[in-house]
Amino acid sequence: MTTLTLVKGDITRESADAIVNAANSSLLGGGGVDGAIHRRGGPAILAACRELRAGHHGKGLPTGRAVATTAGDLDARWVIHTVGPVWSATEDRSGLLASCYRESLRVADELGARTVAFPAVSTGVYRWPVDDAARIAVEAVRARPTAVEEVRFVLFDDRAYEAFAAQIR
Ligand code: ADP
Repeated sequence: MTTLTLVKGDITRESADAIVNAANSSLLGGGGVDGAIHRRGGPAILAACRELRAGHHGKGLPTGRAVATTAGDLDARWVIHTVGPVWSATEDRSGLLASCYRESLRVADELGARTVAFPAVSTGVYRWPVDDAARIAVEAVRARPTAVEEVRFVLFDDRAYEAFAAQIR
């Protein structure tokens, strides 16, 4: 039984087995939540990402996929990096956004993580409308069988918090 919980705040302040990063496909850092995770998590995360780029993920991580690294100085065992789709008004990319949540939970299960904190993937620089992103996120997590006991959505502002709350109520 997986419990879905909501927190308003900065995901880099959370304590969880795994913290999900809304990364970009380069895995080499960016703005938003990605920048915050690398800043607070320290250089070990970027070093692990560079190793992934030097090995299995030479071309970077495709959209909708997920991969784990150390969590560095964060209060977590792993960071799970996932690449959300950029919002498009002309193309339905919701399957890719759902895939981010499914794949992150698959990786979490492989690792044995029991608590996983997610940001609202794609709702920042990638411009996905937050109400729609919240619906996709909650549906994807509810539909995916997992041994994860708590999926915690960590929302940065009131708007995103309310969007997720409306889906979970
Ligand atoms: P994307 O490129 O996938 O859109 P962003 O990092 O730009 O990723 O934004 C994703 C969401 O994360 C946005 O809703 C943004 O407000 C939020 N966000 C930014 N910084 C943090 C943080 N430190 N903790 C939690 N959420 C954050």
